[in-house]
Amino acid sequence: MSDLLLSDPLLLRALRAWLAEQLRVVDEAIEAAESAPRWWIWEKRRRDGVTREAELHRVGCWRPGEPNLTTNQLKEVLASGAVRVEECPVCQVDPQSVLRPADG
Ligand SMILES: [Zn+2]
Repeated sequence: MSDLLLSDPLLLRALRAWLAEQLRVVDEAIEAAESAPRWWIWEKRRRDGVTREAELHRVGCWRPGEPNLTTNQLKEVLASGAVRVEECPVCQVDPQSVLRPADG
């Protein structure tokens, strides 16, 4: 930033207000992205109807199914260990990577 900008309180307050608005917009986008379903699990059922294995898919994968799980819901399913979830050969999300804390 130029010395002129840094020495002008009115410009600095306008810049601060603009940056605050940008943060608000990004926070809303993060909240919307985190609350939207982005995942689904395709279950491989056996003849007895019991699910033993499943594949994890994310938004954009062309395999059958529609996103119906948020990231938090997916983490609950994976953490429960009730179903063995494998990586889809198309979208290739390692289920264990979902359970790891995000960087930063
Ligand atoms: Zn997939």
